[in-house]
Amino acid sequence: MAPIISIRNLTKTYGNGFKALKGVNLEIEEGEILALLGPNGAGKTTLISIVCGLVNPSGGQVLVGGHDVVKDFRQTRAMIGLVPQELTTDQFETVWNTVTFSRGVHGKKEDPAHIERVLKDLSLWEKRDNMMRELSGGMKRRVMIAKALSYEPRILFLDEPTAGVDVNLRREMWQVVERLRQNGVTIILTTHYIEEAEEIADRVGVINGGELLLVEAKTALMKKLGRKELRLELT
Ligand code: ATP
Repeated sequence: MAPIISIRNLTKTYGNGFKALKGVNLEIEEGEILALLGPNGAGKTTLISIVCGLVNPSGGQVLVGGHDVVKDFRQTRAMIGLVPQELTTDQFETVWNTVTFSRGVHGKKEDPAHIERVLKDLSLWEKRDNMMRELSGGMKRRVMIAKALSYEPRILFLDEPTAGVDVNLRREMWQVVERLRQNGVTIILTTHYIEEAEEIADRVGVINGGELLLVEAKTALMKKLGRKELRLELT
């Protein structure tokens, strides 16, 4: 089967001449969970932004579901749910409306049964009539995921889903990702934590200085580098 995402020789040079990506090649299979691991400024967000069609590449090509992300932006964007690092929700809106509006914004017709399924999957059903400002940090993060799932994407990008959260919340997020995998969603997440990549991903890509250094099944990666060495390499 063709990979759901195919990234070929991708480069990005920003306006100030900075080379954020230096020829990245990567193929991701449908239903896979891939973790992109790397230090600050490695190029993880740039890579995700290009695949989502939010930033234009300088060179190379990205195909999503066989479509070019630059030429066929509409088709590819509809296939992708993006959960950014920041919480971008209206604090004075209910959970139900927040998630329902997101579906509308992405041009999908109303489907309350789908929204109900998403909220139940993310353990948010009981909170559907609560205002966003009444939720805990973990619940707010789950609403961000629900917003992305509201329009039924085949691929979900989670940009540092556990940055700055405590251990309990991190574990909660790992369980959410595992549940989404069972629903067949392809997941790419970025992280600074080797433990996180090890816990949830099928494969781990290590990115540094705009280069994808290696992509391995997580167990092979652990054997090859070991936690301590990998940490040293990344700091
Ligand atoms: P973090 O973990 O801190 O989010 P990252 O791996 O996601 O980092 P990117 O945000 O992709 O890294 O940034 C890669 C490099 O590109 C950084 O050095 C950053 O300063 C630079 N960069 C990002 N956006 C721009 C821009 N619009 N103009 C110039 N340089 C940029």
